[in-house]
Amino acid sequence: MKQEKPPVWDLLIVGAGPAGLAAAVNGRIREKNVLVLSAEIGSRRLGKAPEVKNYLGFPEISGEELQNRFLTHAREMGAALEQARVENIYPGEKFTCMTRDNRIYQSRAVILAAGIQQTRFLPGEKELLGRGLGYCATCDGPLYRGQDVAVIAETPGAEEEAGFLAEICRRVYFFPRYRGEVNVGAGVEVKREQPRQILGRERVTGLALPSGELPVAAVFIIREVAPAERLIAGLRINGGAIIVDREMATNIPGVFAAGDCTGKPFQIGKAVGEGLTAALSAVHYLDQKKSQVPEKV
Ligand SMILES: Cc1cc2nc3c(=O)[nH]c(=O)nc-3n(C[C@H](O)[C@H](O)[C@H](O)COP(=O)(O)OP(=O)(O)OC[C@H]3O[C@@H](n4cnc5c(N)ncnc54)[C@H](O)[C@@H]3O)c2cc1C
Repeated sequence: MKQEKPPVWDLLIVGAGPAGLAAAVNGRIREKNVLVLSAEIGSRRLGKAPEVKNYLGFPEISGEELQNRFLTHAREMGAALEQARVENIYPGEKFTCMTRDNRIYQSRAVILAAGIQQTRFLPGEKELLGRGLGYCATCDGPLYRGQDVAVIAETPGAEEEAGFLAEICRRVYFFPRYRGEVNVGAGVEVKREQPRQILGRERVTGLALPSGELPVAAVFIIREVAPAERLIAGLRINGGAIIVDREMATNIPGVFAAGDCTGKPFQIGKAVGEGLTAALSAVHYLDQKKSQVPEKV
């Protein structure tokens, strides 16, 4: 039987918050095929807003209700939405996007709308990144087969990753940094103290805890939002915000960004406006590329 080729999307949007969904709606209005990949369908940040008073036309609406309206609108316009945490995007003739669960997607343009993570980096985190410190246990876990590892979990999504590590590592220590129940399987040891520092010079050697040092070969920090510079190599960032011009273009051709990930103010109205601009700029980019006649050899 002939296998169907996976589609090459015109627009791949990372994040289903206000910025990503506004980009999706406007991409669809311009008749582009649009895929939104998002770690959660909707935005945890927006969902947390008890009452939004400053979004034009909706003087008293809850964040949850606004989010449901945004999602319905994007779906009704024909945008495809899939739950997936994007791990890496590789530029090339087309963009290739890899998700944490190893799905692969291709697109002609990309809009980053992944929001921000307002947490502080742990001491040692930046220095030891790639040297025993990672953000994806399923990607890098196999390197530490048979060894002791730690997971610092800022989201319940980390429980599944810890379960995977427990299948291949000797000991898995789990440090939950979120509220609510912790559901990890056998083989994962839950620790209730908070790591103060990641230890090691050339490589990770352990964690500094209030009760003393815990030797481990690797530490995985699982957050809701991955630092933007990790998504695409070479993306220019300043103070945690993706650098964009007025067209919401980043320094990488074909990659646009919108919403909280481009910096303050962290507001819905700004995210929606930037999502619209990013979509229109991406459409312009795609149309220009299409009209370029290949040079004769
Ligand atoms: C408690 C609270 C109250 C607020 N009240 C207001 C208010 O009254 N008025 C106002 O204007 N603003 C308010 N805000 C701010 C507002 O919610 C944000 O500015 C807005 O949600 C930003 O939209 P965004 O699309 O840029 O990012 P977000 O809404 O953060 O969405 C980002 C999306 O990207 C996804 N994502 C992240 N990383 C990845 C990845 N690697 N792969 C795939 N998907 C990924 C996330 O899952 C999420 O879906 C409030 C925020 C909070 C927390």
